[in-house]
Amino acid sequence: MAVNIFYMHRIVQDMISKARNSNGAFQAAIDNDGRIKAEFSTINKSAHINWKKERKCLYPGCPNKTIGSHTIQARGPIYKISESGHVLSPSATMRGIEIKHVGVNDASKFPGFCETHDTTLFSAFENKAKIENNHDAALQMYRSACREQSRLEFIIKHDEISINNIKNVIIDSSFEYALQHDDIAREVYLFSPSTMKEEFRTQMELDGRNLFNRLEYHINIRKNMLSGISNISVNLENYICGAKKFIENIIILDASLPMELPFAFSSSRAFDEIDQNGYVSNSHTVVMYAAPQDGQTKILICLQDASRDLFQKGLEERNIELLSNSPQSHANLYDLLEEFMFSGSDNWYMSPKYWGELSETTKHKIISHINGQGFSQNIPIEKPVFPELRKSILTIL
Ligand SMILES: [Zn+2]
Repeated sequence: MAVNIFYMHRIVQDMISKARNSNGAFQAAIDNDGRIKAEFSTINKSAHINWKKERKCLYPGCPNKTIGSHTIQARGPIYKISESGHVLSPSATMRGIEIKHVGVNDASKFPGFCETHDTTLFSAFENKAKIENNHDAALQMYRSACREQSRLEFIIKHDEISINNIKNVIIDSSFEYALQHDDIAREVYLFSPSTMKEEFRTQMELDGRNLFNRLEYHINIRKNMLSGISNISVNLENYICGAKKFIENIIILDASLPMELPFAFSSSRAFDEIDQNGYVSNSHTVVMYAAPQDGQTKILICLQDASRDLFQKGLEERNIELLSNSPQSHANLYDLLEEFMFSGSDNWYMSPKYWGELSETTKHKIISHINGQGFSQNIPIEKPVFPELRKSILTIL
């Protein structure tokens, strides 16, 4: 019996190394496996349904259940880019993410606060429908950070549950792939398929370079981001909910572009800090809001004090001066907006008219890129995504 186990161990290692040395054929087999696609669809669908469910209000100590809170002012920017009462936004479906119509009043809603706190904290701000001063900016960044925090917590919890299902499908798929090799197929039937699969799983878990590792890598990146976002939102909460008179430990930067862009978003990104040996030594989270207002596009950027130097260096490298009127700096800032909008964020809203004028190729590229941000692949997107908008910004005098 013991001999058999060692023998099986060797066969399984052979299976894994065949898969690894297959020059992408194994990866392609996994990526194209209908069961994996179906599993991702189920995950997308359940993520879509569960995200909207009520949970506990984010106000400190409040036990009440949430209603839908807006991230972006419905009567301001969202209304501005709407057409017949609707805007377009990425939405999870059984077929993956699609760009769907959403009503002005439902757009950018997330389960954040209970009815009482949504009203006391945000109803005056919501009715004002624009951002005019530092307090408005703090309110906006607070709900932007709360939305990003809730979304990340949700995704992490969800991924941890679904990762197990994905693993099972990957095991089945890789097992079948390995069986296509005659030498392996001959040996495998000495053992029961279930015992073999168990061994396959154990070894895949132990192997640092495999797919499982990639699945968990995504969760770890998100956990890192979550700790940054939580820090931002708790510091804003202290000010907004009255525990502190001033905002501490974080900064909010203000900028604008000299035209109303046909989209609005509230998003976050992590920037890696690279040490002198080329390793990632730290990760910095940045929350960004951009939306049309008064003939311009209003931009707010929120980060921890500790991230300020790194972010400033990043802006300099991109030739961005936040308060400059230079068209080139504006165009570079526009590039940064696209980066925040299309890298990991599903919280963006677009004018149906503008979307309707895009070529089918551009629409297809955007949708494939959003769908490729999951576990199994990462499809890069050509920048700028909207070259005409960038060109307009460059030519504004
Ligand atoms: Zn509450």
